[in-house]
Parts: sequence; structure tokens; C-alpha cells
Amino acid sequence: MHELTLLYGVAEKVQQVVKENGLEKIDAVVVEVGEATAVVPEFLRDGYSVISDDYDFLRGSELIIDVIKAVGRCRSCGREFPINECRGICPDCGSFDKDVIAGTDFFIKEVRVMET
Ligand SMILES: [Zn+2]
Repeated sequence: MHELTLLYGVAEKVQQVVKENGLEKIDAVVVEVGEATAVVPEFLRDGYSVISDDYDFLRGSELIIDVIKAVGRCRSCGREFPINECRGICPDCGSFDKDVIAGTDFFIKEVRVMET
């Protein structure tokens, strides 16, 4: 499960934010997960409940996952289309040949802290 490796990376980045801002705890971490990454949101969620217990500042916090659609641009006709819905095939010309132009990233979008 490489999701756990990603999550430990998330925890380390959040730890920096916590230190820099003199926080004790955070409420939620928002991550963006592209459909074209090999990251499985369910595994992320399960993994988070495990690793968030390892860190005082994460305990009891929530992982919010924004899934970003994978978008391809057809190399034959230039059409942009959602890759998953179209099963990777250009809806205009039927070509498989495409560049993936969105949905390839995994990153932390936001760290949420409850106002006190
Ligand atoms: Zn096409």
C-alpha cells in the first residue's frame, strides 16, 4: 500500500505547518487526488485512521479527499475529454492516443484548523 507512504509524507508536511504556526492540533487535511494517479481514495481514508493516531496533532482529525477528474487531450483531433467516462477513447475520433492533461497529481490543498 503506497497510500501509507503518501500519508506519512502528508503527516510530515502538516507537522511543519503545525510548528510554523504554533498550533497544537488540526481539524482536517484536504488533499487533491487525481484520477490518473494510482492512489485509491478508500485506501487513503483507511490509512489515515491508522496513521492519524501516531501523531498528537492529527489525532481525531479528518481527511477530506477531493478527487480531480482525469482529462485527456486527443493527439489526433485535439478534443479534450474525461478519460474514465470515455474509457480512454476519444469520443470524437475513437483514438486511444492522448496526452493526460489533468488528474495526475496528489497534493495537500489545505490544512484546516478550528478557530478558537
Ligand atoms: Zn480525437
